[in-house]
Amino acid sequence: MRNIILCGAPGCGKGTQSEFIVERYNLTHLSTGDIMRAEVASGSELGKLISSYTSNGQLVPDDVTIQILEQHIDSLPSDTKGLIFDGYPRTLAQAKELEALMERRGDSTAVLIDINVPEHEIIRRLIERGKTSGRADDNIETIKKRLIVYHDQTRPVDAYYDSLGKYARIKGMGTIPEIFERIVEVMDRMY
Ligand code: ADP
Repeated sequence: MRNIILCGAPGCGKGTQSEFIVERYNLTHLSTGDIMRAEVASGSELGKLISSYTSNGQLVPDDVTIQILEQHIDSLPSDTKGLIFDGYPRTLAQAKELEALMERRGDSTAVLIDINVPEHEIIRRLIERGKTSGRADDNIETIKKRLIVYHDQTRPVDAYYDSLGKYARIKGMGTIPEIFERIVEVMDRMY
């Protein structure tokens, strides 16, 4: 399968770009943020546990996240052409687990695309999104915590994929189509 990872700070545009990638390459979008929010909305015990972390800007613990992700991958239709991982892996442990999972499935990840956006722009976008998103985590206090978590826990994932020769960094400023073109350039080069 053609599997790619979209990475970057919260609000860097991963979700928006995923929609365009799905359309162009016929891949399946797998957003752990969306999966978590659906679980919270269902009101389940697992959802309550998840919410105690997400509403506070913290990552959901690795064991819970990895289990949720693996269940989703196992339930994919057999004609799935490839996956866009959006918001996963967010820690080094998740990255290593993902690579091991792919190997067990006789599959692999092709590239991690890091969408780079300056921090002041990230804060501006997330505050703007908070006005309409209804998301409990789009407020300045939680945004700051999420950025610290991103720097401390998620950035090491970039270095890990770089060491595997599967890392590409693109500029996340500009219009949505411009950023999409940069992603296409990377993907067409990798395949
Ligand atoms: P962002 O705005 O950072 O892109 P997402 O919508 O991807 O946020 O995720 C929202 C929240 O869900 C995160 O702040 C985190 O608490 C939780 N979450 C999502 N993906 C993961 C993951 N891979 N590991 C742990 N927690 C996660």
